[in-house]
Amino acid sequence: MTRFFEVTNRDGPARLGRLRLDDAIETPAIITKDEIAFAGPIWGFSSIEDALKAGESLSGKTDKIVIGPHVAVPFHIEPPFSVPATPTDGPSGFVVHPLLRKVPPASDVRVVGAAGSLHNPRELVAAILKIRRMKPPDSALYTPALATPANLALLIYLGVDLVDGTRVVVDGLLGRYHLRDGVWPIEELKKLPCRCSFCRAMEGGGRDPKMIAEHNLLKLEEELLIVQEMIRAGTIREYVERQVRVTPEQTTALRLLDQEHEYLEQRTPVSRRSTMYANCAESLTRVEVTRFARRVLERYRAPDGDVLLLLPCSARKPYSTSRSHRLFAMALGETRRRLHELVITSPLALVPRELEEVYPAASYDVPVTGRWDREERAWILSCLDAYLERNTRQRVVAHLEGELREMLEEHGIDAVYTGGGTDGDSLARLKEAAVEATRDARRLEGYPIQRFRALADYHFGRDASSALLTGDVRVRGRELQSADREALAALTPNGTIALSIEGAKRLLSLGGYIVEIGDFLPRGDVLAPGVTDADDQIRPGDEVIVMGEAAFGVGKARMSGWEMVESTRGIAVELRHVEKT
Ligand SMILES: [Zn+2]
Repeated sequence: MTRFFEVTNRDGPARLGRLRLDDAIETPAIITKDEIAFAGPIWGFSSIEDALKAGESLSGKTDKIVIGPHVAVPFHIEPPFSVPATPTDGPSGFVVHPLLRKVPPASDVRVVGAAGSLHNPRELVAAILKIRRMKPPDSALYTPALATPANLALLIYLGVDLVDGTRVVVDGLLGRYHLRDGVWPIEELKKLPCRCSFCRAMEGGGRDPKMIAEHNLLKLEEELLIVQEMIRAGTIREYVERQVRVTPEQTTALRLLDQEHEYLEQRTPVSRRSTMYANCAESLTRVEVTRFARRVLERYRAPDGDVLLLLPCSARKPYSTSRSHRLFAMALGETRRRLHELVITSPLALVPRELEEVYPAASYDVPVTGRWDREERAWILSCLDAYLERNTRQRVVAHLEGELREMLEEHGIDAVYTGGGTDGDSLARLKEAAVEATRDARRLEGYPIQRFRALADYHFGRDASSALLTGDVRVRGRELQSADREALAALTPNGTIALSIEGAKRLLSLGGYIVEIGDFLPRGDVLAPGVTDADDQIRPGDEVIVMGEAAFGVGKARMSGWEMVESTRGIAVELRHVEKT
């Protein structure tokens, strides 16, 4: 049970929240003695009774997080015993040693024991993930004496909510000078690369340890402001990917975190407003990439037809707004009604035309050189093989050039290769191949219907399209309607679909994306304590169906399904429509 901490925004394990002390503080935050009342290690007391008494004397404080006495041991030693939590009326904290086997008591703040000695990236990742996986998920995580301007983004991306200035202040007193780019013994710096008042005061050559400490703290605070903005903007992952380059240990930590794919997947929203940059090797294994590819291969089904056209991606997104894709469309003309278009790209692998407006297909950017490295090739070909097995076609036309074309040909993809390109001759070859391939081919369903089918399956799972688009349906503008003109769903500007109550009822039989609530009619948002059960596959940003004895509604998930069930605070679903049942 957390009474004083609430998560408000999530982007992967990183989150924004609010710690309700007398003066609420926004997290992630750098906390100080003003916010914590720490009884300290039991070794500082003459007996355990004395230690417990010291803890009790702190309880009742509401302006501070009360952290009772704890058994302080180094990281590699399992604590021989543990001290019970200090009861308090206000915000509570509890020190959890990473090797502790017992489930710790629920508290508003979990303090990572021996955090200051987590230098090894493997131990750092293992310790933080272990404690963040404990229930309830809405406890704040605090790593004392660990944060520096260089590692702060990584710590917060791993799942830390609270840090302090201990490390940088102590380092400053020892003459160690911190920047976001690392740490230096100050005597090695000819000029101080910072214009803060402390550094200016030291310009003449006087190096005052207290001023170095102040500068270090200032740099940590500045970095915190940047990280908060990055989470708000949905670009924390991109920021961490470049910030970890500061040291090999940090890069190692990010790669180890990426191996904990499930931990990340369970916490990553389905869409963002920001553009996804796939700038480095780590970007290939991002949740956004693997999730998109898996949904295309497992949920999506291509429209019934005979001809598949493979196209290259374009820098501009969605692809159809690009010059090259407009030229392809003109060249293809009427044949487009008889062929299905699939875009081959890195790192998403395959983007069916109907899904080009879905996140991240509609907003990603990669460095393009025309060269495809071994990992990219293997990834794309494995996806293409799986796709072709699931969506068989009599004929394939590949309008691809360069290495991409060679790669598919060498792999033995049976297709008419036009050579790709956007000049007059190339487009004429594309047209000729398309006309030839679509002769006698079946005509596809209208594109607006195809798109709703694809989106329904992509968002709600296999067979969702047949449930939602059952019977006579039509598309008017951005809305899908039943035969009697009742709205079922609408396309949203960010490529998802928003359900109407009627549309939600059609999807009920699938049993997915349902949030069950208690016997009440929610007004406004559904809060986590009101949720009795929720589909495990729900992620922040998903369209969900809300059901209870007294209510039926639709809305957007603000947290993952498992989090709704286990959390004690926070908005679970933003309701859009609700009716009494
Ligand atoms: Zn400075």
